[in-house]
Amino acid sequence: MIKDHYETVKQTIQNKAVLCTVTKRRSLEEIMEFYNAGERVFGENRAQDLVSRAAALPKDIEWQFIGHLQRNKVKEILPIVSRIQSLDSLALANVIEKEAAKAGLTVSVLAEFHLAEEDTNKTGLSADEAFSFVKEVMKLEHIRLEGMMVMGPHTEDEERIREVFTEAHDLFVSLRKEFGEETFHVLSMGMSDDYRIAVECGSTMVRIGTYLFEE
Ligand SMILES: *Cc1c(COP(=O)(O)O)cnc(C)c1O
Repeated sequence: MIKDHYETVKQTIQNKAVLCTVTKRRSLEEIMEFYNAGERVFGENRAQDLVSRAAALPKDIEWQFIGHLQRNKVKEILPIVSRIQSLDSLALANVIEKEAAKAGLTVSVLAEFHLAEEDTNKTGLSADEAFSFVKEVMKLEHIRLEGMMVMGPHTEDEERIREVFTEAHDLFVSLRKEFGEETFHVLSMGMSDDYRIAVECGSTMVRIGTYLFEE
């Protein structure tokens, strides 16, 4: 843990956004430093790591799955995750629904959007399909759709980053209006390099790894 980076993040997000500490590739000791500082929301992007870390670490950690989720991995992470942030297709939603029903669970998820069109390698839904997608997922009994996740564009151009985050927030607000604030209340956006802008643009959860762990 880089203590002054941690302080800076806490100062910046205050009570506006929740910190999701991204623990991918970090040791259990490194993760425990954040746990001991009071953090409980941790993010992993690989199913296998999520499973092994959850087994080794305290049970009150609220694990967030943030990576691309393969359908054959859904079953193993379901009993562990607090939230799947990377729901990017109806096919995946249907698999989650089926496995959650079998396990007698209700799973919290975020719909993942891809709004920075210049980044062609990224997965996620388009803004055009947002309303129909959310409507379909809301019908699934064992899924609780709580909001959306979005990545900033891969650029140092702050204006472009702000543009994408503003677009994400606008979409979030219209979905919230349509589907209700109690249900649609999480806007997960902002990472090490762009979390300040994300918070200014209305993020309610930032996902930060590198900045917290590396000089
Ligand atoms: C790795 C990762 C992060 C954290 O990125 P940093 O640049 O290390 O802060 C956030 N979100 C997702 C989906 C990631 O895979």
